[in-house]
Amino acid sequence: MKLNSVEKKWSYLSVFACALTAVLLGVWATLNVADANAKTHYESFVVVIDAGHGGIDAGVLGKTSKVKESDLNLDIAKKLKTHFEKAGIKVVMTRTSYGGLYGTTAKGFKKRDMQNRIKIINDANADVMISLHLNFFSSSKTRGATAFFNADDKNSKALAESIQRFFNLSSGQTRDLSALKGDYFLLNQANCPAVICECGFLSNEEEEKLLLTETYRQELSELIFKGATAFLLS
Ligand SMILES: [Zn+2]
Repeated sequence: MKLNSVEKKWSYLSVFACALTAVLLGVWATLNVADANAKTHYESFVVVIDAGHGGIDAGVLGKTSKVKESDLNLDIAKKLKTHFEKAGIKVVMTRTSYGGLYGTTAKGFKKRDMQNRIKIINDANADVMISLHLNFFSSSKTRGATAFFNADDKNSKALAESIQRFFNLSSGQTRDLSALKGDYFLLNQANCPAVICECGFLSNEEEEKLLLTETYRQELSELIFKGATAFLLS
């Protein structure tokens, strides 16, 4: 059958429409498979959250409020745990109460505390370890949230840099900061990518005020979650 020019045009258009539909279906299918894979992978992740200090080891104290670093660390840790669990990621906490991990307060309690933490971290066979702290400095001007990593481990560096990118978006961050190398026991001994998040300075009056608010601690926990998951999915 010979097609006239109008029929030819319609015929080309329908071939084009079929091809376009096929391409779109393909893209849709690929996206769905990718999504399904991502979800499966997401649910296989294990994250250890370490709330720094605890018990007789309060960490640093708020300059004005005298709030204990150990208490704020625990609160941010619990908020962070909720974010990971909502995403289907398994969380192991080094502590969930106000107490430390040293057992008795006898001499050498800090060493026992750190050894018990690293045992929990390394027994968890985790994908990442996030240790939460707050900082204090002699100059009250110093402020900002910073992520620390072990310089010998490129994955830890990538994790810290990912979290730092999100820290720099926080409402309390007055300027962009870089993730920093840190020579810390937990970072050196962890058997997975590890980061110490110094979430701000309790020696800075404004930052202390922010850290005392539920809203700001919630914001920080969301940013750490976003930074860590961006690393996990990279
Ligand atoms: Zn600390």
